[in-house]
Amino acid sequence: MKKKITNLVKLSREIGVHLDYVQGSGGNISVKISDDLMAIKASGYELKNVSETSGLVFVNHAQINQKISEFCHKKNGDDEKFSAAVDSLTKRIAPYQESRPSMETGFHSLLPFKYVIHSHSVYAAVLVCSFEGKKIAAEIFFDFLWVEYCNPGWQLTAEIFNGLKKLSKPQIIFLQNHGLILAGDDADELLKLHTQINNKIKKHLNIPEFCFDKIKIFDQEFMKKNVLFPDQIVFGISGEFSQSQIASHIFAAYSYILQSIDKSGLEPIFISKENVDFVANMESEKYRKKVAKK
Ligand SMILES: [Zn+2]
Repeated sequence: MKKKITNLVKLSREIGVHLDYVQGSGGNISVKISDDLMAIKASGYELKNVSETSGLVFVNHAQINQKISEFCHKKNGDDEKFSAAVDSLTKRIAPYQESRPSMETGFHSLLPFKYVIHSHSVYAAVLVCSFEGKKIAAEIFFDFLWVEYCNPGWQLTAEIFNGLKKLSKPQIIFLQNHGLILAGDDADELLKLHTQINNKIKKHLNIPEFCFDKIKIFDQEFMKKNVLFPDQIVFGISGEFSQSQIASHIFAAYSYILQSIDKSGLEPIFISKENVDFVANMESEKYRKKVAKK
């Protein structure tokens, strides 16, 4: 167990210090320790702050998978029911403090690999936030799952559950208007794969390196009306965070993505008003904001 936790902490920090890979408390990483125990980032924590003694939560992934399958077959799952189920399958292990597991625990449980990295890479976002992205991904990557936009939490978990019927062991998953998921059994190889994929996208589209200080930030009113990804709703639109460092990182990511889409001659896809309202009202997103404020 110790080695796997050490690897998980290493992955979290390596990905977490890159502003172009995650912003604020976005993104999450997990490791399956045994046939039923999985460690995953706690909701609202920043990946770069995960350590050997804090920022992790333990869950029973085998039982979570059973719940997902049950909800999907009966078609009666929703966010509230699913987070209650995940909470009841959370195991307190000392010295980790009691916290809620990441709201994306569902798809981490489902993927049949030891390690899962979910990032909000701005490079992958150029693909997943444009109409042409899926076609371009097919030109540069061999095997991947492309998940059409669905709201984070239960909806995304259910969509990936169905996606696994098409591709049972996907190592690369693109989430439209959201981000990237990579899965594998070797932590170092997975980290390498994450770098390679992002470099490939950058090179193929000939887009510059993300450089926080050099990005021209869009007007906030424009960003509010044209939403690209869920964390923009949680930390950018609500106003509560508008002066915070998290918001400045989100706004920079947004501006980089939209400018790169434009530079590449692609057409952006924005999230519908209905889905923006849905995410703004999710209980699990309110919880994430509460933790981030502390
Ligand atoms: Zn995410």
